[in-house]
Amino acid sequence: MRIQTFSILAGSAACNARCPFCVSRMTPAQGMGRKPAEPHWRNLRKACLLAQQAGVSTAMLTGKGEPTLFPDQVTAYLQALEPFRFPFIELQTNGIPIADGDIDDGLLRRWYDLGLSTVIVSVVDTEAESNRLVYLPHRERYIDLPALVARLHAIGFSVRLGGIALRDRLDHPAALQRLLAFGREHRVEQLTLRPVTTPDPATVQDQEVFAWTRAHAVPDERWQALAAWVREHGRLLMHLVHGAAVFDLDGQNLCLSNCLTVRPDGSDLRQLIFFPDGHLRYDWQYEGAILL
Ligand code: SF4
Repeated sequence: MRIQTFSILAGSAACNARCPFCVSRMTPAQGMGRKPAEPHWRNLRKACLLAQQAGVSTAMLTGKGEPTLFPDQVTAYLQALEPFRFPFIELQTNGIPIADGDIDDGLLRRWYDLGLSTVIVSVVDTEAESNRLVYLPHRERYIDLPALVARLHAIGFSVRLGGIALRDRLDHPAALQRLLAFGREHRVEQLTLRPVTTPDPATVQDQEVFAWTRAHAVPDERWQALAAWVREHGRLLMHLVHGAAVFDLDGQNLCLSNCLTVRPDGSDLRQLIFFPDGHLRYDWQYEGAILL
């Protein structure tokens, strides 16, 4: 059994952004409420052991909401992960609490010292107004993304921009070239791009989100054309489990991926997902995909 990523849910279902495609609202709550629960540390240790035995190189702190709204819990998770010595520990965030200064440099340095290696910032575009309309329609401005990247670099983190492709945004070569140019200019170590997906209608929790994602999903032929452009202009570096591939495009790394868990033949798991209540799952959508 190969496992690509070990995801650990931090925080709660609360978020300071308003994404109309919110994964948190699309997938079952599975024990996550608005208030953060005390993590089930015993089962986390078991999950870490399994991940280690399956050769997982990357542990990723993520959320069904925004994990950095609960920075003490992020610190506690990093402390709990430290003995297992995962080579890469990543934090997935919308970047807003860090950019707003709610997370100061002292705390970021503490996280760095505890082994956090990469901060993944989700974006739907490189243009501030385009990001604002999706993430922060209730605020006048989006965060200063270049300043955030520079600050994270100054602490010592690698930065990954996690691009989510929406129809008429990052779904065609010209927009992708803007993303690549942004990456090169700000020395972003890694870019990923995955199309927003509409999950299985049978498991969907929020019809409004489902309808929005369906209306804004990238048509398959457009995604295929974009992938063909990347293959033509980039150099394939490696294939990841389940069809994701990493390319070099004039010095800028780009991983083309899809969104939710995919199991083409059932033999591999794309990921382990640890929930704070102690459950260990391997799929975001299907409640039956559970190990603990
Ligand atoms: S940043 Fe993530 S958790 Fe927050 S609203 Fe957007 S998709 Fe949902």
